[in-house]
Amino acid sequence: MAQLTQLTDSYQRKMDYLRISVTDRCNFRCQYCMPEDIKFQDKSRILTLEEMLTFAEACLQLGVTKVRVTGGEPLVRKGVVKFVGWLKDLGFEDVTMTTNGYLLEEHLDGLVEAGLDRINISLDTLQPEKFAFITRRDHFGKVWSAVMAALETPLSPVKINAVAMRGVNDDEIADMAKLTMRYPMHVRFIELMPLNGDTDGSRFRKLFISGKEILERVQRELGDLEPVEKEDPAAPADEFRFEGAPGTFGIITPVSEPFCARCSRLRLTADGKIHPCLLTDLDVPVKEAIRSPDPIPAIHEVLWKTARVKPPAGLTLPEEARNRTMSQIGG
Ligand code: SAM
Ligand code: SF4
Repeated sequence: MAQLTQLTDSYQRKMDYLRISVTDRCNFRCQYCMPEDIKFQDKSRILTLEEMLTFAEACLQLGVTKVRVTGGEPLVRKGVVKFVGWLKDLGFEDVTMTTNGYLLEEHLDGLVEAGLDRINISLDTLQPEKFAFITRRDHFGKVWSAVMAALETPLSPVKINAVAMRGVNDDEIADMAKLTMRYPMHVRFIELMPLNGDTDGSRFRKLFISGKEILERVQRELGDLEPVEKEDPAAPADEFRFEGAPGTFGIITPVSEPFCARCSRLRLTADGKIHPCLLTDLDVPVKEAIRSPDPIPAIHEVLWKTARVKPPAGLTLPEEARNRTMSQIGG
């Protein structure tokens, strides 16, 4: 395939990582992500998987090498396993998925066969009752079973993402970290971002706990952790290992130490908008280009326009006035 000039933004950041939100729908209602009574978009507004693939192909030609399939919950979208195979067949080096795990176990073999390179499973607690409180769904058992099953596949080691919340799951930070001593798991605590429609910011301020504090608490309770060198310098997680442990423990600090200076990300929303930055509401519509008679050059034009407007590093996430949910943006 023809490789054109590498997509690079106005601040010389290479844009080589695409996150595709294949649906805004979800079978959970995590409190930090969406309100219980969320209204999903009408299905007629959502791109087909073929249209998403055309967009991905245009990105690949501009030097995007990594793609993450996300949502909403990606596994509720019919045909998503096949979609992973299409992305691999196109030639992406790294195709990964972020899932809440509820539908994962039944799709594991298909995902492995399709060529998925890695999986991130979101799991904020090891306590079933708390799981039901956070996700508003009583499905801990099914998710845990999927995590254990994934460890038996070529997708192991598995990444576990936990959103840290003071007074909710901060008492489990050490228990979650201990999983890395037993299993080949990369457990990462993510700082809570004020993106759930919590527009006055008060809930966010009450729940927020910094990555630095998380790390200090783990070290206080479990002893020293050795830093793990990053394979990919653009990776947002700072990772550590207990001596001899099969897994690693990490923190992701989008609020206290935003990684904007090395941000290489582009996000495609399910309804056909490019979202170049999590910290702003900026969107660049691309549906029309995807549906045009000669879509690839039309998408390239939109991608370069997006690169020009991608905001610089140094912005901070406003605590107020954010009505977006993470499920709409694609995590
Ligand atoms: N449904 C899938 C899942 O939960 O893994 C994929 C989409 S979800 C929006 C992607 C990631 O965003 C999850 O790991 C979730 O924990 C994280 N997330 C959602 N809302 C967040 C928030 N307010 N702050 C930090 N992370 C958040
Ligand atoms: Fe659904 Fe994932 Fe959002 Fe939870 S974090 S509500 S599982 S999209």
